[in-house]
Amino acid sequence: MSDYEFFDQVNKGFDRAAKYSEYDQGLLDQIKICNNVYHITFPLERDDGSIKVIHGWRVEHSHHKLPTKGGIRFSTTVNEDETMALAALMTYKCAVVDVPFGGAKGGIKIERSEYSDAEIERITRRYTYELIKKDFLGPGSDVPAPDYGTGAREMGWVLDTYRQLKSDINAEACVTGKPIPQGGVRGRTEATGRGVYFGVREACQNKEDMKELGLEPGLEGKTFVIQGLGNVGYHAAQNMIQGGAVLVGVAEIEGSIYDSGGIDLEALMEYRDETGSIMGFNDTKAFEDNTAVLKAECDILIPAALENQLHADNAPDIKAKIIGEAANGPTTDEAHNILKEKGALIIPDSYLNAGGVTVSYFEWLKNLSHVRFGRMEKRFEESSYRKILNVIENISDRTFTEEEMGVLAQGADEKDLVDSGLEETMINAYNELNELRKRHDIDLRTAAFLSAIDKVGIIYNQMGIFP
Ligand code: NAD
Repeated sequence: MSDYEFFDQVNKGFDRAAKYSEYDQGLLDQIKICNNVYHITFPLERDDGSIKVIHGWRVEHSHHKLPTKGGIRFSTTVNEDETMALAALMTYKCAVVDVPFGGAKGGIKIERSEYSDAEIERITRRYTYELIKKDFLGPGSDVPAPDYGTGAREMGWVLDTYRQLKSDINAEACVTGKPIPQGGVRGRTEATGRGVYFGVREACQNKEDMKELGLEPGLEGKTFVIQGLGNVGYHAAQNMIQGGAVLVGVAEIEGSIYDSGGIDLEALMEYRDETGSIMGFNDTKAFEDNTAVLKAECDILIPAALENQLHADNAPDIKAKIIGEAANGPTTDEAHNILKEKGALIIPDSYLNAGGVTVSYFEWLKNLSHVRFGRMEKRFEESSYRKILNVIENISDRTFTEEEMGVLAQGADEKDLVDSGLEETMINAYNELNELRKRHDIDLRTAAFLSAIDKVGIIYNQMGIFP
């Protein structure tokens, strides 16, 4: 019996899908195993002069492609099992969306609110130093990103520490999710939520699948409930609304609200900023139980907060026909089976929230090329489009106003290009998974594992075994 619970759970999903792959057990074992597991301890001198031993981990799950990629988490839940499981999920997620990285994850086991900013900076820099010492950080070896409890500021400290210790012309590519002036890319903040929207929209566009669910094709007019209005949840909801869907329910820490006539998201965000709560907003029906709205009438349910939110107790009452897993691990194994039995379409986390790592990949490419996307071609495109519009004016009665010219002749800037790359990635990956799902008569989660196993396995198959 293994000591690992979360990692074992990930491997159960892997094993279910592995039955449909053609690889032998030895190769499957190699894909599953974590290549490097590094447990770091170091002393922190606290602001009051006392010493505290800090525990951290970095796990590189798979070296089939380099660098490995995965966030750094600051949380009390961090341990070896969690870091291994999340690193493995990163390998599969990257493979599903064809982002050419192996999977990794890192974490520090702390309650971040108990530490001052200066202490967090010392922890981040010392952790970075320890990673560099063992070659667990670098543009070509292992590239972290933000995760729970860390953000652009911490990534800036990682880069600065790396720069102090290494004279590397590609230093900026050693970490992603950085502030823009330090080499970050435009569109990274909203990328995960926007990717969720692209994925759900693509699922809704499939006429055959929607017919099976008893729904009309297209996102227009579909009702949805969202759990969590943080980075991922807010941007997913905002994009879904712009795409024609109607927000009817919201769950947050303090409770949940429902209005079948639709909820004004921006007004709700303002209301929550002012009052500190979503409760009592306009004419919405309020529930003290913050999970109540997950069971409300809607077409699409998007859990975008935490793991294990859809479980054996609430899954039988969930009415949504489509579950869009924006959070990592929001559905337990039991709930997955119950929802599947009820005929719901579950769009799995390993695909649906891959927008973040996809745009991190674009940031890494930008850093390696040392040039902002669109810098070389934006003006050239604009002048070409203007020439075409002038020709149209000359051969027709149509004259474009300067305002119309401005809109029609606009060249793509960094944000446009990042967004276009993200949309292309999410659409292609969805259709690839859906095709696998139908070919093997499996669900999308198993299809995502199978797709990843095929893509990682083919690389290992071609690798020589060195002494
Ligand atoms: P976040 O901290 O910005 O937002 C989480 C939100 O959930 C907060 O508004 C919080 O108040 C709310 N919440 C917490 N507990 C809740 C509860 N019991 N009921 C309802 N709401 C609750 O975090 P995030 O970056 O949006 O991440 C959300 C999920 O998406 C996590 O599972 C994360 O691992 C996953 N994810 C995030 C990214 C990313 O780029 N940020 C990428 C991939 C996956």
